[in-house]
Amino acid sequence: MSSEERVGRLLEVSGVVQGVGFRPFVWRLADRHGVSGRVRNLSGIVEIVAEGSSETLDRFTADLAHEAPPRARVEEVRWRPRDAAGLDGFAVDESGDDLPGERLVPPDVATCPACLRELLDPDDRRFGHAFVNCTDCGPRYTIIGSLPYDRARTSMGAFELCPDCAAEYSDPSDRRFHAEPVACPACGPGLWLADRAGHRSRSDPIEAAVARLCTGGIVAVKGLGGFHLACDATDEAAVAKLRRRKGRPEKPLAVMVESVERARDLAGLSPAEEEALASWRAPVVLVRDLGKLAPNVAPGHRRTGLMLPSTPLHHLLLRGVAGPLVMTSGNRTDEPLCTGNDEAMERLSGIADAFLLHDRDVVARVDDSVVRVALERPVVMRRARGYVPEPVTLPLEARRAVLAVGAELNATFCLAGGDRAWLSPHVGTLGSEEDLAAYAETLDRYRDLLGIEPEVVAHDLHPDFLSTRFARETGLPTTAVQHHHAHVAAVMAEHGLSGPVIGLAFDGFGLGDDGEAWGGEFLLARWDRAERLGHLRRVRQPGGDAAVRDPTRMAIAHAADAGVLEQALGLLAPRRRKPGAVDEVEVVLGQIASGLGSPMTSSAGRLFDAVAALAGVCRSATYDGQPAILLEQVAESSATFEYGFEIDQEDGRIVVDTRPTIQAVVRDLVKGRAPGEVAGRFHRTLTAAVLAMVRLIGVQTGVRTVVLAGGVFDNDLLLSDVAARLRSFDFQVHAPHEVPVGDGGLSLGQALVAAARDGEG
Ligand code: ZN
Ligand code: ZN
Ligand code: FE
Repeated sequence: MSSEERVGRLLEVSGVVQGVGFRPFVWRLADRHGVSGRVRNLSGIVEIVAEGSSETLDRFTADLAHEAPPRARVEEVRWRPRDAAGLDGFAVDESGDDLPGERLVPPDVATCPACLRELLDPDDRRFGHAFVNCTDCGPRYTIIGSLPYDRARTSMGAFELCPDCAAEYSDPSDRRFHAEPVACPACGPGLWLADRAGHRSRSDPIEAAVARLCTGGIVAVKGLGGFHLACDATDEAAVAKLRRRKGRPEKPLAVMVESVERARDLAGLSPAEEEALASWRAPVVLVRDLGKLAPNVAPGHRRTGLMLPSTPLHHLLLRGVAGPLVMTSGNRTDEPLCTGNDEAMERLSGIADAFLLHDRDVVARVDDSVVRVALERPVVMRRARGYVPEPVTLPLEARRAVLAVGAELNATFCLAGGDRAWLSPHVGTLGSEEDLAAYAETLDRYRDLLGIEPEVVAHDLHPDFLSTRFARETGLPTTAVQHHHAHVAAVMAEHGLSGPVIGLAFDGFGLGDDGEAWGGEFLLARWDRAERLGHLRRVRQPGGDAAVRDPTRMAIAHAADAGVLEQALGLLAPRRRKPGAVDEVEVVLGQIASGLGSPMTSSAGRLFDAVAALAGVCRSATYDGQPAILLEQVAESSATFEYGFEIDQEDGRIVVDTRPTIQAVVRDLVKGRAPGEVAGRFHRTLTAAVLAMVRLIGVQTGVRTVVLAGGVFDNDLLLSDVAARLRSFDFQVHAPHEVPVGDGGLSLGQALVAAARDGEG
């Protein structure tokens, strides 16, 4: 062996390689292979100087990619020869400076198995310590103030390492080598339980919190990216109290369980669902409920959102309670998530009975992510903790940096530079100045962290969205992107589609090019533009937004349009005719006739509203999309019968005439057919209509690639049926997986459109 010539290499590893334990991994690998040299972070990459025999270096180079730590994502390992300098040993150098736009900040990582073992081991010095972490796990995005990523620039900078932790931190062979948030009971953050008045309990904070939870109390728990509100998920009265105090009457609540084994007791899990639950991202996963939780956790739903503990603190709580806990966002309904101790004490004092607090600051507000498994893969429904700020790679190179501001519901923004786009975490609905402030704060943080200064701003066509106003107030050049074009473009961005594609955008509402309300659209879409080839039949949306909260209004509008008003009113009657009250039906019919404040809409979401109200599944909505969601929940997936529909021409566009469908729905319901069967048939009908439209457009345009977009496609029955039937006719079908299909993913599409339009310069 000694006869082999010693050579040198300069290697560059790109991808997600910083803040994921990559340098210690390289050190251990070099140690194992007997390679000498050094490693350092540089401009978003990891640079390695390696010396050894060329055979050894070949193995070392190959293992760099193959054995990378679990959270790293190696995109490329490049190397070139370099003269051997006779280096001794292997050194880990401090971070170099990052170039703007090349920075990759790691997301937060759920507690790893090794740290969990220590947490639960009475002989370990970190036994029961709520802040255990290592190079493979722990807080990242939520504690990083600025880059490069090292302890002083995180909210752990305030805690001086004890000698034991310092030794681990500086030992390249230790699994906590350069774990920036490393902590132990001697030097880490402190934990305490406070009552509403701020008085600290003297007993063990976990035990005290567990006692409150086990006796029906509501505890506000400070987590990674903000507060949760927790209560016993099997205690109907506790859940009811939480709902009442939070002002959240019906929207499903997420539930945290101790382990995958416990999750199996509560839900029917597929292997893909178990994998999603146990992943280091630790999202909320929508799974089939077995009915063992309090019924008011997810009323009317067949599915419940479960998640596993994402921090040691959560592990300790769940073990103490030994049962599932409701863990819902710590905010008052329609307000941003609380992050600070004082802020939480003030704003949540009317909701929580006690507060489990600690003194590590939450630098970045981030909610839990929500996924479900559809078409055999995890689909991200809300992209936040564990996902942000990972970038999406764009199919083009942005000439100038782009800010895309999103829409109004489920708002996110997106920053794009070069061929990368960073979607913000879910911010919530932009309805107030307070929401806008939280949004602007997250944007400032993204700009700082990523080093991207936007030069072009993309916004929705809607002039009244706060996001649109925000875009205008930047003073930068703006471009308006039609809502449904942006939906389709988001999927094109994720899948790298160059277009043209047939884009189906089904949602509740987006302003169209013609100033009308759109939402059941068939577009021929390219990156920079889209053409409306077809849509669902337009009807009045009586009272505009009032119809969103009161789906009976859409039932009346669709029934009147289809000529079955009398029969429909018979179905709706028990709820509509209040003695002595103003005749609401007359009011709605007046709005339909006059059109006053009642735009024409082609919305698929509003069509679902109408059918849900007629079927008696949902006659008043307390959360976004509720009628459509409940209609899917009751739908018999075994239904095979399809109602009629027709395809018409209107101003050169093709239109699905839904009147025969509505007539048949009403006829079936009047005959007493079960709502579940009618809902199933309605889903089949919509699929058939989509198939007919797409086949027609396919013939007209020669395009065979179809994109499914818009919040209505959070409906699995519709999504899987539409995808399967289109594929059986040899269409290529793309739906989003990495970004939300609804408005939460919209800003990514806006960014792609803006970058494409800006490309010609
Ligand atoms: Zn760990
Ligand atoms: Zn320590
Ligand atoms: Fe939308």
